[in-house]
Amino acid sequence: MITEQEALLKIEPKQLDALLHPQFEAKALKEATAIATGLAASPGAACGKISFSAEEAVERSKAGEKVILVRLETSPEDIEGMYAAQGILTVRGGMTSHAAVVARGMGACCVSGCEEIRIDEEKRVIYVKGKEYGDQDYLSLDGSTGKVYGEQIATEEATISGDFDKIMKWADKYRALKVRTNADTPKDAAVAVGFGAEGIGLCRTEHMFFAEDRIPAVREMIVSKTVEERQKALAKILPMQREDFEGLYTAMAGRPVTIRFLDPPLHEFVPTQDEDIANLAKTMGLTFEELKSTVVGLHEANPMMGHRGCRLAVTYPEIAAMQTQAVIEAALAVRKKGIEVVPEIMIPLVGEVKELKYVKDVVVATAEKVLKKNKAKMEYHIGTMIEIPRAALTADEIAKEAEFFSFGTNDLTQMTFGFSRDDAGKFLGEYYEKKIFESDPFARLDQIGVGKLVKIAIEGGKSTRPDIKLGICGEHGGDPSTIEFCHNVGLTYVSCSPFRVPIARLAAAQANILFPRVKPEPMATRYLDEN
Ligand code: PEP
Ligand code: MG
Repeated sequence: MITEQEALLKIEPKQLDALLHPQFEAKALKEATAIATGLAASPGAACGKISFSAEEAVERSKAGEKVILVRLETSPEDIEGMYAAQGILTVRGGMTSHAAVVARGMGACCVSGCEEIRIDEEKRVIYVKGKEYGDQDYLSLDGSTGKVYGEQIATEEATISGDFDKIMKWADKYRALKVRTNADTPKDAAVAVGFGAEGIGLCRTEHMFFAEDRIPAVREMIVSKTVEERQKALAKILPMQREDFEGLYTAMAGRPVTIRFLDPPLHEFVPTQDEDIANLAKTMGLTFEELKSTVVGLHEANPMMGHRGCRLAVTYPEIAAMQTQAVIEAALAVRKKGIEVVPEIMIPLVGEVKELKYVKDVVVATAEKVLKKNKAKMEYHIGTMIEIPRAALTADEIAKEAEFFSFGTNDLTQMTFGFSRDDAGKFLGEYYEKKIFESDPFARLDQIGVGKLVKIAIEGGKSTRPDIKLGICGEHGGDPSTIEFCHNVGLTYVSCSPFRVPIARLAAAQANILFPRVKPEPMATRYLDEN
């Protein structure tokens, strides 16, 4: 009765969330009343007893309990607990805070920035509107609406029917944009491939550094006083990192993989508890006081604008060298298994072409050394993220050194508005109420301001390198209205968390049906049939 295109246009991409994540049973939800509302940070429904720390969430889950992890905010150290919990609730943090980004990547339900909640960790209770909830009380979270319920609500698992697959195949037929995923583990990568991802657009390597068996070596690297000490610690990390990349390449089976070099502020990795500091001091042959003073010295007043991104590689080039060695050696190892990868190395937080050139020289020298040692040849590409306004404004210069750009719109939004991505949730609510903003600029791209920088960067990049590959890997890459913008400005691909891949495929098709553009050929078309 209608065409495939008309059918595709009738589906609201965000509704696909309901097919991919658990939901509350409709009847049970009707009878429940929300006690608070936060940001709908990662969709789905979750129910469990309150757990106050990541360790507690892991332990109680192992014992068979279903728990909700409730934190002021999360940090990379909470990852295991986030995996173990049914859902995550944070008091602070916006749509691109750690909790929101990581939960979306895992496909876990998350409500962030729920300022109505007060946590008393010592008493192990939370207060909501004068009422107290303890570790034996249930919370239910709706990550699709941001609502929090102080009771147990039954959930039901999502089921995907054959029609879903059919619709996705139609979407692939009509879209021009490629769809990649943001994934850091083989497990997430495999989930994304199952959802139709055509490559990895962002692997945040720092997420690989937090596993329990690695953190001691990572901490050793950070507090090293000399290059030799740092190299010794890096030598311990190298085999693990190589193994990580092999796992990712294998899961992606020849699809393109973009590996982003170390980005976060170093002090995120350093121990904060005296007991951990004492243990590390012992391993490193230092006194507690010596190490404590190093830890204090690493503190930054404004870490988001501090010693992170390519600045780390400029000050400690040996980190970039280790990561390059791991990237290339892993690619050589999977080649032996018949998987041919063309690694894409992405340098973050570049604002000046000379920064990029400095790090690129380290990468090229290391890669060539590894290839020579193995008597091998390999194609690899080096590109950068465009996430600092200056990089967008000087993109013609940056493109002299970068073979590809990926728009890091989380940081680009933060730095264009001057809103901290971790704290903006505190005041943005008032902005919606007072009609200053219609939507969260960290979730839906501000096309007028941030979008203008994206367009300037595309024009600049293309003027230097007409065939430059262009993608987006900020959280906006999974937002339908941003995807339409990306389509219209001519990006090659969008990259989003695994569970948003189907949404992105549909939104990309809708954009191309409404605003047709010639289908670009260069990337991974051979995977379309599989998808
Ligand atoms: C970004 O800034 O948009 C980005 C993808 O990087 P991260 O979120 O890791 O800073
Ligand atoms: Mg960034």
